[in-house]
Amino acid sequence: MSEIEKVKCLIIGSGPAGYTAAIYAARANMDPVMYQGMQPGGQLTTTDEVENFPGYPTGVTGPEMMVQLEAQARRFDTDVRFGFITKVDFSGGVHKCWTDDGKEIHADSVIISTGASARYLGLESEQKYLKLGGGVSACAICDGFFYRGHDTVIVGAGDSACEEAHYLSKLCTKVTMLVRRDEFRASKIMAARVKNTKNIEILFNTETEEVLGDGQVVTGVSVKNNKTGEISTIECTGFFVAIGHDPNTTIFKDFINLDDTGYIEYEQPGTARTNVEGVFVAGDAADKTYRQAVTAAGTGCMAALDAERYLSHKAHA
Ligand code: NDP
Repeated sequence: MSEIEKVKCLIIGSGPAGYTAAIYAARANMDPVMYQGMQPGGQLTTTDEVENFPGYPTGVTGPEMMVQLEAQARRFDTDVRFGFITKVDFSGGVHKCWTDDGKEIHADSVIISTGASARYLGLESEQKYLKLGGGVSACAICDGFFYRGHDTVIVGAGDSACEEAHYLSKLCTKVTMLVRRDEFRASKIMAARVKNTKNIEILFNTETEEVLGDGQVVTGVSVKNNKTGEISTIECTGFFVAIGHDPNTTIFKDFINLDDTGYIEYEQPGTARTNVEGVFVAGDAADKTYRQAVTAAGTGCMAALDAERYLSHKAHA
């Protein structure tokens, strides 16, 4: 049996929530150990320009901000590790966690900052070309570059879809946006931006029937107007999906209270506490409302302060 590692504070996930928790926990002598997760740096690493994080008057790229946050966490001796937690057992007084390389960790306190992941339509053809790397993507900022001078299609009508459509419009010849209802969900300013961009065509009441391809790469999309029933084909080489996210909380579901969409429920509003003593949550794993880097960072701070109070209370009990 491999040796069990004991840690005071285990942070699971490395977005703005996790790094902020790490900075606070490290400065409070909690010797935090962070497992970065499947996507080190989290969702912001797939974002281009972040213009709304206070303190960056001229903006900053998502990846750059995450590099800086990691450096700040390491500066106070956070033990940042590449790898992820595959299983937890929060049933007893000890919080047991297992890593992808088989290590067992017993943590006095745990901060969950696992964030959320992009959603897909679930069509077989979409998944086929996604797995082939043949032209399906949920991140225009990451993959748009490959479609310079091409025609692309993007699905979604929220702020993400608008932001990504606008980003693609700067690279692609034409961007067709598929909106399933007759209106946007996005904020007025974001919707106006895509409406006012010449090479973005918006098709309302339009749903994706099938992603078309030659067996290797995407060649088009078959779409249906859900008002008229008319089916048509749009030629494109890139098919982008921007229809929201799912919280990365599956491994916690047997121990931590989740809402009906999988987001972690706070035990007490205004704190970072979950229903399990000593386990705290920060960022998008518990936030389906705000989902901003700055709110994630704020709740990361709360989680570390709550964990610190929990540990010191335990030490003096
Ligand atoms: P949202 O949940 O806001 O929007 C998802 C969109 O995808 C909706 O328009 C929805 O359509 C559509 N959709 C969902 N499923 C399907 C489907 N199967 N087929 C077609 N369309 C589908 O997610 P976002 O990721 O856009 O935004 C999440 C949060 O992040 C929001 O609060 C947003 O404001 C915020 N955000 C802010 C940004 C900024 O301020 N710079 C940038 C990006 C995000 P329908 O409307 O019909 O339900």
